[in-house]
Amino acid sequence: VSQNLPTITIIGAGLGGAALAIYLGRRGFPVEVYDLRTDLRHGTFIGPSMNLGLSRRGLMALERLGLAEGALDRAIPMRGRVVHQQDGETSFQPYGGRPEHVINAIQRRDINIALVAAADALDNVRFRFGRRCLEVDKAARTAVFRDEQTGRSENVGYDVLIGADGVFSAVRAWMQRGERADYLQEFLDWGWKELRIPAGPGGSFPFERNAFHLWPRGHSLLFAHPNLDGSFTCSFVLPFEGEPGFSSLTTNDSVLRFFSREFPDLVSLIPDLTEQFCRNPVVNLVTTRTSMWHYGGSIALLGDAAHAVVPFYAQGMNAALEDCAVLDDCIERHPGDWQGAFSEYQSLRRRHTDALAELSKRNFLELSDRVRSPFLRARRFLDIGLSRLLDDRWTTLHSRVTNTCIPYADAVEMARRQDRLLAWTGGSLALLATYGLVWLLRRS
Ligand SMILES: Cc1cc2nc3c(=O)[nH]c(=O)nc-3n(C[C@H](O)[C@H](O)[C@H](O)COP(=O)(O)OP(=O)(O)OC[C@H]3O[C@@H](n4cnc5c(N)ncnc54)[C@H](O)[C@@H]3O)c2cc1C
Repeated sequence: VSQNLPTITIIGAGLGGAALAIYLGRRGFPVEVYDLRTDLRHGTFIGPSMNLGLSRRGLMALERLGLAEGALDRAIPMRGRVVHQQDGETSFQPYGGRPEHVINAIQRRDINIALVAAADALDNVRFRFGRRCLEVDKAARTAVFRDEQTGRSENVGYDVLIGADGVFSAVRAWMQRGERADYLQEFLDWGWKELRIPAGPGGSFPFERNAFHLWPRGHSLLFAHPNLDGSFTCSFVLPFEGEPGFSSLTTNDSVLRFFSREFPDLVSLIPDLTEQFCRNPVVNLVTTRTSMWHYGGSIALLGDAAHAVVPFYAQGMNAALEDCAVLDDCIERHPGDWQGAFSEYQSLRRRHTDALAELSKRNFLELSDRVRSPFLRARRFLDIGLSRLLDDRWTTLHSRVTNTCIPYADAVEMARRQDRLLAWTGGSLALLATYGLVWLLRRS
């Protein structure tokens, strides 16, 4: 560790904060990471277990840390989605035209522990768990932390502060105080609840193991990721209000009636459905966008603190990990110039994370409803057929987002060009057919 390097203080030992601690620790910076939670490695965390989809760009960021292989050992590759209809019929939609086109289902806890352990193994990285950041004084470069056990507060100076403290970031709020910063926070009218389908006899999988499972119902949505022990972690998404809505599912009877009608295949597979439903909290789904990701060469935001998205493109963690790789490159290109590094980081990332926010909202409509449309299914198979024929020159937007590291906004633009080409080709073919028909009719 060089004597002249500034200390990097990271708030948040989640996926982004822990990964960045490794990136910067390896560059020789002294790194201090604060998190309000206790250390996940000691098994005291209580909360949703959450199973996340790790895709190409998240893996790329982990590869650079030498952690991708370990993550894949703890993951189950999902090759596509199985759509479950109300009558029990199922259909499979592959994620891409090639065998390596998969999304990896992994427990959030597992990947977070691996990142914290790798960071902690570096001599110059130190974790301080159970410390909540309450306040940041950006002029004085100090932050106040409360010890969650004793309730005592301490005032700590910093050289460079990274806010990796998630969607409701305290660092962001204090950094933007008194500044001309745009900030948009958009709640979905729908909430999210985790449910768990236990493994079958002898640890067998109740459904196809290597797939993402989806129960689209229009007015509700359920999807499930496989776990290594044979169980599935389900995300149940429903409006907060109305019928059906979380506000009307308040008794065991109403929950059972609703599930028996909408997801009859699941009722017998989750024997403690009503207990789980009552016990597990309903979580808000939020999109945030902000114009100001950094301040004065001394503070920067990362991951959900800078750009939270709703989870329907399974990209929040992937984008947070990608942020770390991009920020690390910017720091390398601007040695000692934090203002320059942070400006470049924001200009490289923000357009793309804004595009991801839109994609994630749009995919909610696709997963909850449009996935059932025969037109959409036909279009998907056409795209996959063309991608096999034309190699990587043609592929679906979903595949570009999940199977490549093409920046999000560029992937959207490529998809638009493909759509235009397809519409033009379709239109031209229709025109040609019409001319042909007229010509034939005139001759007869
Ligand atoms: C239901 C759901 C499903 C999802 N599915 C996927 C998926 O399939 N694929 C995917 O890529 N992403 C998914 N995501 C998104 C993903 O979980 C997040 O984008 C990712 O965790 C962001 O990482 P982060 O490090 O920015 O924030 P977090 O992982 O939230 O970490 C923030 C950390 O900061 C700490 N902290 C917060 N406030 C303070 C404070 N004041 N002081 C000190 N510490 C603080 C917290 O304790 C936490 O450890 C999903 C999210 C949800 C809600």
